[in-house]
Amino acid sequence: MAESIDRISCLVCQKEQAKGIKILDEFICEDCEQDIVNTKVEDERYPQYVIRMRNLWKNRETTGERGL
Ligand SMILES: [Zn+2]
Repeated sequence: MAESIDRISCLVCQKEQAKGIKILDEFICEDCEQDIVNTKVEDERYPQYVIRMRNLWKNRETTGERGL
């Protein structure tokens, strides 16, 4: 019995990972999720995450909601 694992490219690191979270139709791997959670606003990496997340939501445009 073959176990099929859907591997999806992570939105942040672009690596194909099996574990992670899905936001809308996009995928963020466990590592990056932890990174984002643990990244403080003053961290220099934080803007990169925000930009990527923003692009994600921009692609959707399902609502006129402005979170950030
Ligand atoms: Zn990742």
